[in-house]
Amino acid sequence: MKSLFSFVLLVALALSAAAQTPAWKGKFEQLDQVLPTPNSYRTGSGAPGVSYWQQRADYVINVEVDDNTQVLTASETITYHNNSPETLTYLWLQLDQNIFADKNMTTETKTGAVRDSVPAGFFGMMTGAETVDYKGGYTIKSVKDAAGKALAHTINYTMMRVDLPAPLKTGEKFVFSVDWSYKEYNRQNFSGRGGYEYFPEDGNYLYTFAQWFPRMCVFDDYEGWQNKQFLGQSEFALVFGNYRVRITVPSDHIVGATGTIQNPKEVLTKEQIERLEKAKKTFDNPVIIVSQAEATEKEKTRSAKKSTWEFYAENVRDFAFAHSRKFIWDAQAVKVGDKAPLAMSLYPKEGNPLWEKESTKAIKNALEIYSERTFIYPYPVAYSIHTANQGMEYPMICFNGSRPNKDGTYSQQKLIGLVQVVVHEVGHNYFPMIVNSDERQWTWMDEGLNTFLEKETVRVRYPELYGTHGTPKGIVPFMKGDKSQMRPIMTNGDDMRYNEFGANGYTKPSAALTLLRETVMGPELFDKAFKEYAERWAFKHPKPADFFRTMEDASGVDLDWFWRGWFYTTDNVDIEVADVKWFRQRSDKMDPESKEVKTKQGDLSSGKKDGPSTDFSNGPQEFSMINTPEQFYGEFRSKIDDNAVRKKLEGKNIYQVKFKNVGGLVSPLVIEWTYKDGSKEIERIPAEIWRINETEVTKVFVKDKEVVNILLDPNFELADVDTNNNGFPKKASASKFDQFKKNN
Ligand SMILES: [Zn+2]
Repeated sequence: MKSLFSFVLLVALALSAAAQTPAWKGKFEQLDQVLPTPNSYRTGSGAPGVSYWQQRADYVINVEVDDNTQVLTASETITYHNNSPETLTYLWLQLDQNIFADKNMTTETKTGAVRDSVPAGFFGMMTGAETVDYKGGYTIKSVKDAAGKALAHTINYTMMRVDLPAPLKTGEKFVFSVDWSYKEYNRQNFSGRGGYEYFPEDGNYLYTFAQWFPRMCVFDDYEGWQNKQFLGQSEFALVFGNYRVRITVPSDHIVGATGTIQNPKEVLTKEQIERLEKAKKTFDNPVIIVSQAEATEKEKTRSAKKSTWEFYAENVRDFAFAHSRKFIWDAQAVKVGDKAPLAMSLYPKEGNPLWEKESTKAIKNALEIYSERTFIYPYPVAYSIHTANQGMEYPMICFNGSRPNKDGTYSQQKLIGLVQVVVHEVGHNYFPMIVNSDERQWTWMDEGLNTFLEKETVRVRYPELYGTHGTPKGIVPFMKGDKSQMRPIMTNGDDMRYNEFGANGYTKPSAALTLLRETVMGPELFDKAFKEYAERWAFKHPKPADFFRTMEDASGVDLDWFWRGWFYTTDNVDIEVADVKWFRQRSDKMDPESKEVKTKQGDLSSGKKDGPSTDFSNGPQEFSMINTPEQFYGEFRSKIDDNAVRKKLEGKNIYQVKFKNVGGLVSPLVIEWTYKDGSKEIERIPAEIWRINETEVTKVFVKDKEVVNILLDPNFELADVDTNNNGFPKKASASKFDQFKKNN
């Protein structure tokens, strides 16, 4: 309960502070109007509601890749389940390969200027000009219903609308098929995901097929059809389903794909099957399924025969595959909860010795840490496929780039690069493959959360490789940048500059989550809430508010100010230790009963030296604590023991510190006190300190020992962009003092 006394005092303090405060911007206010209104699909707690629904699409696909022409020819049968409460009259599919079609919005809308001495390989990327002879994009040969009757369809760049012959009601399904082909692209010409690499020394190809089939768009409660065009930067939004895919390739190729091999006896040798069985029971080290010697031998010949590999995958949102004659193959089982998924790597000899040492091990580390922090990895396999320069994720399979030098040596940077990329891309199984967010709209929901857990995996499992990637310290150079060019994290990925896309999508949200875990919430509350979010939205489609709300709901920590500052603005953290005053209670001459020694109320500096100080050299200023005037008690009979208060604070060092929020981003305070005896103490103050005044606060600290130094954010955990104003005595004054000493 508040006494009248403290109320009067608070009003007086508030009035005196109000005069100097800049305009209030509501940095501590709730996000009420910013977030969508909760409903029965998505609740105010951030969980799926009682009426939550989602669509489903099952695929059966037959695909063949011609190793001579690099043309993919395929046909798919899609069973689309309408679980929505709406009746549908048309469906939308994504035709992402059309980003390489003659007419594509990416090059049509590319902006950029000609520069002198521009590398030829970058000219197309910078200007949108066609610089390589490649005719890509889908050739859609037919779209038919289950009876083989042609369906009317319209292609709108990377989207295709299929008109339904009859309205598709709630609970009904529609079966239709699409036949298509396209020529795969050489990955070195495009920074695209997928593609092939040609190895001139042995004349072989290594294929990674991605976005290779017409895929159903998401239709949901939030926005109906997600049909934002694929422009290249923002990724995909996809529905869950089961996939049966038959992949026909030359019979001397090894194939890796989303899902498990259904016909091992048809495509593997007896020896390979035995080795694979051994791998399923081997948890300590990878078992070699195809050795380097065997793969190198195969490079020299060309089989004229074909093999069809059949894969089956349940409850996945996409399907990708890779194949090559050059693949070495290793595998080992990983124990996560009651499951033992198989971690596997496919790589050519060019990846060794780095890959055989590190790839499968990194899959294992990722699966273990992510399973701890979210939920047990539910899929039976996790592949890591070698490429020269990719980092791209699909369910159960990812394409990773980091290649040693030709002589097999590799730098520490290449090692870090491989560990990071494998952990990251395997980690994407969680975000967005299972916690199935809309990548086309919100890059941070998968990349940000995943970069955070990637960094955590490296921190826990590879402490020697752990750096500042995705940490508060690491994001400082970006946060310091030109705000006129910046966009908040809550911006569509296609609507920001490329270099900002990396920070906003990946490292800034990761740094923010790190700050949230280590400084704002603490690991225990954070980990529980993060796990809650992952479990609630596993195999569902979360939106930003579902994450924001769940993190609050499961932790009991009000985080609206945090989401507001870090996700909805371009503010940065820059807290200044603006002023420090040192006080001690005047004790010796004072007679507390005397009314004559009464100091003027509010003037606690006793008229000695006022204005900002720069160090502690003037010693403490004295102040008096007079008796509490009778009138403050009103009708209360019981009174404060003024002498006890004076006694409690007798001889104590009282520090009055003024903090200014220069960067605008509300932040907790981490203060390091260094005492005269050399000892240190870290004090943590929640961000709620800014709730009354978001730009400037003054706080009093009582210390037994004399303080010689105050330092804000000593361990760089706040992402404070200017540490020059974090200390007291002030740095400038210290140098002035040195100057003074020199001159005298
Ligand atoms: Zn990623």
